[in-house]
Amino acid sequence: MERLEIRLLPDGLINQIAAGEVVERPASVVKELVENALDAGARRIEVDVEQGGARLIRIRDDGHGIAGTALALALSRHATSKIRSLDDLEGVRSLGFRGEALPSIASVSRLTLISRTSDDERAWRLETERQQQPGPAAHPPGTTVEVHDLFYNVPARRKFLKTERTEFGHIEDVLRRIALSRFELALVLRHNRKTVLNLMPARSRAEQERRIADVCGAAFVEQAVYLEHEAAELRLWGWIAQPTFSRSQADMQFFFVNGRMVRDRLATHAVKQGYRDVLYHGRHPAYVLSLDLNPALVDVNAHPAKHEVRFRNARLVHDFLYRTIHEGLAGIRPGDENGSSENMPQRVAVLSGVAQSAGPPLASPMRHQTAMPLSVREQVDAYSRLYRTAPNVAFPPTADEIDDQTTDEQAPESHPLGFALAQLHGVYILAQNESGLVLVDMHAAHERITYEGLKGAQDESGIRSQTLLVPLSMAVSAREARLVEAQEGVLAELGLELGRLGPEQIAVRRVPSLLIEADVEQLVRDVLSDLALHGSSDRVRAAMDEVLSTMACHGSVRANRRLTLAEMNSLLRQMERTERSGQCNHGRPTWTQLPMDELDKLFMRGR
Ligand code: ADP
Ligand code: MG
Repeated sequence: MERLEIRLLPDGLINQIAAGEVVERPASVVKELVENALDAGARRIEVDVEQGGARLIRIRDDGHGIAGTALALALSRHATSKIRSLDDLEGVRSLGFRGEALPSIASVSRLTLISRTSDDERAWRLETERQQQPGPAAHPPGTTVEVHDLFYNVPARRKFLKTERTEFGHIEDVLRRIALSRFELALVLRHNRKTVLNLMPARSRAEQERRIADVCGAAFVEQAVYLEHEAAELRLWGWIAQPTFSRSQADMQFFFVNGRMVRDRLATHAVKQGYRDVLYHGRHPAYVLSLDLNPALVDVNAHPAKHEVRFRNARLVHDFLYRTIHEGLAGIRPGDENGSSENMPQRVAVLSGVAQSAGPPLASPMRHQTAMPLSVREQVDAYSRLYRTAPNVAFPPTADEIDDQTTDEQAPESHPLGFALAQLHGVYILAQNESGLVLVDMHAAHERITYEGLKGAQDESGIRSQTLLVPLSMAVSAREARLVEAQEGVLAELGLELGRLGPEQIAVRRVPSLLIEADVEQLVRDVLSDLALHGSSDRVRAAMDEVLSTMACHGSVRANRRLTLAEMNSLLRQMERTERSGQCNHGRPTWTQLPMDELDKLFMRGR
């Protein structure tokens, strides 16, 4: 290559290069401009889009505006009103601060800026293509930015734009995230003059949940718990879906740090850990969570589009998130407002096929657990239901509350699952409680109880085990026989004492007391295959919960086993005492409620 003279790049080209980073597609323009409006204190933002944003993006806000004399400056590079010094940067509260967005966007489009501050009599307008100086215009206090013909002068970029629908879909995603990050904001989105979103300010929790239902679908809200926790100057609040509403993709995870949507690995990991025990492999939790903390404790300048953040005390934040979620989920038990009434009518909908033909279809959890978006009709229907059953709030119970529940055995409210009436086909327990009929999946429930029992025992004092009267001798593969020797310590932790008798022969001497009635041979085979799968003993320890879950599955009452009423009641009482007994280890529900009014509806009573 020929050696050229070193020269400063012209401004226009610098901005176009910067635009390459900041302005990937129409949705990035929308994000930057809406963030500017938010930084200007806007309370209402209207977004008009034509042709997926390729032809026009217009953002109108009622924020504090830009003075006429500053319009041209706002469009120049590294011009910002948001920070002045490194100190400001370290404590930055605004969404923007780099002073890059407007000049970058202006360099790859035809941009018009119209603005008026509240002290100004009139508005000023600047069209980047035609004018150097702003001219007078009519506009209420606030700002309108129009971006015409995005990438008209960058054919390579223009060519890479996807279909109108796809690009608009990305814009919608951006606005949904913004909608969830600022509940008090009124937000309107129109595409080709058709209104797509029209959100009123959401102040009360009911209004906020209604907005979430608009954005994420009503099923999410119905199956979510609100939580709020503050410690060590960190505050986490928001909605987490119960594990029964898990997703096959990580597509419903909204996480905001000081009102900024981030996709942060540390946070994602911490939340996932919180769900670890209750979510089936390969499923993803759904949540809308906000973390608020002193801005000085988080570095938002880690990425040009600011998707990632860096926490000054990552470990603390991770633990805080993990614990809050974990305890929040443990709090969902029969008897909690959320567990007993809120999500129930919805599950009932699956059962009440009869009623469906009579009234509007009720939202079915089966349907919403797939990643299918809700149709408008489904949203409206689910929506009206949402109002009928105005969601309650469940705070994770405190240790004291948990104690109260376990000690006060005689009070009727300490038996939220009621009393057993009968067993259905050896699979379900039918019970009666104050609000109606309770259905329990025996196997799933018992599995959860056994698992929590094993886990609790293991955490505290080690799993209690019992010697078999007659050791059981088993034929295994040579590899498994070697595992028995190599993993002796791990097996002991699991309450299993196995010995190697020969190259392909082992003996089972002790098993966990909780599992003494299980099919011991099958149990040992499964544990060995778990050990083989997880390899080294370190990894086994990490995967211990999985091994315990395998074991719990063995200890559970099998379907088709007959139980006496006393046995059934004892299972119900154990469920009430057990953390997370609302789901089995695989995230399936363990029980459901058919309240009297739903039953009445089935039979058109009282109509
Ligand atoms: P940054 O947001 O990083 O400061 P931008 O290029 O996005 O940089 O905007 C430059 C400046 O223009 C902002 O600092 C702000 O003073 C002003 N500005 C941009 N948009 C608006 C708006 N909608 N309302 C009021 N001021 C705005
Ligand atoms: Mg900005």
